[in-house]
Amino acid sequence: MTPLDDFRYGPLDPLPPPVHKPRADMNFRAIKGMNDILPGEVERWQQFERAFRDTVELFGYREIRTPIVEPTSLFVRSIGEATDIVEKEMYSFTHHDDALTLRPEGTAGAVRAFVEHHIDQREPVTRWYYLGPMFRGERPARGRYRQFYQVGCELMGDPGPASDAEMIDMLVRFFQRLGIGQLEVVVNSLGGPATRPRYKQALVEHLTPRASQLSEDSQRRLTTNPLRILDSKDERDIAAIAGAPSVIDLLDDEDRAHWQKILTYLERLGTPYRADPQLVRGLDYYSRTLFEVRSSAGLVGAQNALGGGGRYDGLAAEIGGPATPSIGFALGIERILLAMGDQTAAPRPIVMIAPIGERASSEALVLAREIRDLGVAVDVDTRGTSLRAMLRRANALGAPLCVVIGDSEVDAAQVQLKDLAGHNQSVVARADAATQVASLLKAASAGGSG
Ligand code: AMP
Repeated sequence: MTPLDDFRYGPLDPLPPPVHKPRADMNFRAIKGMNDILPGEVERWQQFERAFRDTVELFGYREIRTPIVEPTSLFVRSIGEATDIVEKEMYSFTHHDDALTLRPEGTAGAVRAFVEHHIDQREPVTRWYYLGPMFRGERPARGRYRQFYQVGCELMGDPGPASDAEMIDMLVRFFQRLGIGQLEVVVNSLGGPATRPRYKQALVEHLTPRASQLSEDSQRRLTTNPLRILDSKDERDIAAIAGAPSVIDLLDDEDRAHWQKILTYLERLGTPYRADPQLVRGLDYYSRTLFEVRSSAGLVGAQNALGGGGRYDGLAAEIGGPATPSIGFALGIERILLAMGDQTAAPRPIVMIAPIGERASSEALVLAREIRDLGVAVDVDTRGTSLRAMLRRANALGAPLCVVIGDSEVDAAQVQLKDLAGHNQSVVARADAATQVASLLKAASAGGSG
């Protein structure tokens, strides 16, 4: 290649970061707590989603996609009437006479689909994963949004405890693969249907004499949902909880054996964990095993939970299906990306074709198709503008290569290749152009100069 001396352009100009400030002259903007994910940012999402799919598919999970809208009663029934989600966070509306809700989580829809399609009759053990938007009308903060995205897994038809330990280990391996630091894996058991009322009662007995010291929310929860008080971040509640009975001490023999075996499996796998008898989660359907993964990397306060889950052995029957012991988890994509910090993911490298003149434009469209057929992305600048403007755009896109075609190139059955990173150019026969471009681009991206 010869030096690119017929045309001078400035240093590579990356696209400026997106501006999040609203325009004074614009009447519309996205709803608070609901965000646009723009190109530049979306590559990290795609990279995360690929890593997730890749990890869970290695464990035999297959993707399921359920509707974003479900009957409101499905969530009330499964998540629980006295939970924060159902009490105050659901986006519910009536359409004709149907009470509908934007899904606040993924498990209820997955279990509904499992029951509705008689999946249990086809496979005794079902492993599903999902990804998509969820909706909760929470107060927006860093790491807490009203439309947010989750990935999750559901394992239906296996009572554990080996599957519980495997799922927790899968999560830990996934987070390690993502390179997330300051990771903490907290596990607990809430016991089965027999233990839970006993534990509730013991907790209420401990808290009732201290009721006046509790926060207003927790005073109310003492009658509606006492377990949630354990989750409170309020100093007054934390003080009142101190010395409360431990759920682990109240487990019956079967629950205790289940719990002990999980810990034995985790030890055998070398999975790091911390048992915390105060761990509770915001959904009512859990029984026995509960877990949460936290990281303080890049996250603040209450938003340090990257994901969590647990057993929901009673849920399928609760919504009218066969008794199906099950366990699952959900992870919040936004929080995980925050915890991953400023790692960048490069966009797919792209070649720019800059045609000058009418005949060159049609030639450019044909050449672009040939190059794309070789698996390389191409952007044809069809604006009919100056070479300078087209090269500036190629720089802004980060294109490592620009193909320039003018009338003289069309007449000579040639094209000009400009290596924008190396500031070189060469002339190539039109007939060889597509293969040359594809191999140069692949070499450039392999060398990391794309
Ligand atoms: P949950 O479905 O409540 O068990 O939450 C599972 C995970 O989803 C949490 O650990 C968070 O990472 C994420 N998550 C839950 N609610 C929100 C929210 N409002 N905004 C962002 N992420 C959330």
